Amino acid sequence: MNRIAVYPGTFDPVTYGHLDIIRRGALLVDRLVVAVAVNTQKQFLFTSQERIGFIAEAVESIPGVEVCQMDGLLVDFVRHIGARFVLRGLRAVADFEYEFQMAGMNRKLDPNVETVFLVSGEETMFLSSRLVKEIAGMGGDVSRFTPPGVIPELRRRMRARLGRGPG
Ligand code: ADP
Repeated sequence: MNRIAVYPGTFDPVTYGHLDIIRRGALLVDRLVVAVAVNTQKQFLFTSQERIGFIAEAVESIPGVEVCQMDGLLVDFVRHIGARFVLRGLRAVADFEYEFQMAGMNRKLDPNVETVFLVSGEETMFLSSRLVKEIAGMGGDVSRFTPPGVIPELRRRMRARLGRGPG
């Protein structure tokens, strides 16, 4: 059986929390498609091409994982590529309400699409793209939180955004 799962998100930028979910999720399926959402109402720090590039570089050595852009409804994308599963990561209680609602709505939109959750690892349960951005903007060390390819541009953009100049 060809099990295909979609791991959707904004990944602005990808963190070791996302990568932990990708690594563990990839072991459960034949093909894991990381779908980078482009048309949400969020204000992004990185373009979709940049977000895809960062992930692609970080997952290069993980078999069965690919990255692409997703524009539109998740259930349509899932159906379009012939997948059956949506993979999501769950951190502490804060994620639950939103994820519960999303999984329920997606099931209403397409009852054939099953959402599967992986609970975050101890090392990554406090990690979020938002916090990584804030720490980088204030000159903190983010090397334990996000891959090396992300860091220089992350620091530059966040410092510019916070009006701190290069540092
Ligand atoms: P979205 O904008 O859809 O919330 P994110 O890129 O922030 O997308 O997250 C994508 C998925 O990864 C979500 O299921 C989120 O809960 C999960 N995730 C994010 N950070 C972590 C983490 N540190 N540990 C486990 N799952 C995480």
